[in-house]
Amino acid sequence: MYLSLVIPVYNEEESLPLLFDAIHNALDSLQEKWEVVLVDDGSKDQSLKVLEELAEKDTEHIRVVSFRRNFGQTAAMAAGIDHAKGEIIVLLDADLQNDPADIPMMLSKLDEGYDVVSGWRIKRKDTFITRTLPSNMANGLISRVTGVELHDYGCTLKAYRREAITGFRLYGEMHRFIPVFAHSVGAKIIEVPVNHHPRQFGEAKYGLERIVKVILDLFTVKFLLTYSSKPIYLFGGAGIGIISISAALLIFLAIRRIFFNISVFGSPLFQISAMFFILGFQSILMGLIAELQVRTYHESQRKPTYTVRKKINIE
Ligand code: UDP
Ligand code: MG
Repeated sequence: MYLSLVIPVYNEEESLPLLFDAIHNALDSLQEKWEVVLVDDGSKDQSLKVLEELAEKDTEHIRVVSFRRNFGQTAAMAAGIDHAKGEIIVLLDADLQNDPADIPMMLSKLDEGYDVVSGWRIKRKDTFITRTLPSNMANGLISRVTGVELHDYGCTLKAYRREAITGFRLYGEMHRFIPVFAHSVGAKIIEVPVNHHPRQFGEAKYGLERIVKVILDLFTVKFLLTYSSKPIYLFGGAGIGIISISAALLIFLAIRRIFFNISVFGSPLFQISAMFFILGFQSILMGLIAELQVRTYHESQRKPTYTVRKKINIE
């Protein structure tokens, strides 16, 4: 199997037949074998029934995974990736906002040696204030914090080489950070402009609450990327910083006592210094506990702390 499309589906009954036609138009001329893994994320409309009919008509290409209830887009994408057999995996939305016609162009970019081809909706067809603007701000922030500069993290349409995408698990709403994780395992990324269409059927599944989630996710991602194998550097670093403040206060108090004869206990500075000392000490202890956790994390899953691109003369 060469190519797997992975598509999360939640209440998209009207879009699915058209999506299916668009995929055929885009891929029928492909020489290699391809499949579409559609994950029904506990849809409440007739999506599953439509998928069953499509799968019956096209047993060669269509695979369907159906969740017992709605687990969210990230879980649906993760399940699709788990069931995909292709050496190339292309993610896209089911709502016809992404255009399967872009896929051959993305495949040719992978052939040029990239591991991730990231779609960028240059002419985005969503409402500006509630969707495009917050998304632009989020893209800037994510690029800055993670150091992976992309214009459009929110665009699902992206193509991945299998090795770039299967080395990590996705939690919560983390699907938009897949390129960041891919980058962290050494993937080469390129951005390409892709088509975007307004939503024709059904409704968008997200509102403004997504902004808060993205910001919280970004904290997690940054922490995992930078400190997941060395948490003591973060907690211990903070702890040493706080203890230094405590020490500086104590020295200040001592100098005042010795040279100016001002009582150490006459101001709250001594108590504040003690408080900083305890805080700093706690933070270092927290770092040590995090170090224990990290060992469990890596060793329970035999997760190596490195990724290898190639081996020469090694079996
Ligand atoms: N989706 C899903 N589970 C959910 C919400 C959404 O599988 O709980 C799917 C949805 O069917 C669509 C894709 O995720 O294929 C993106 O959803 P939507 O178009 O609402 O999001 P946006 O375009 O705003 O990113
Ligand atoms: Mg959409």
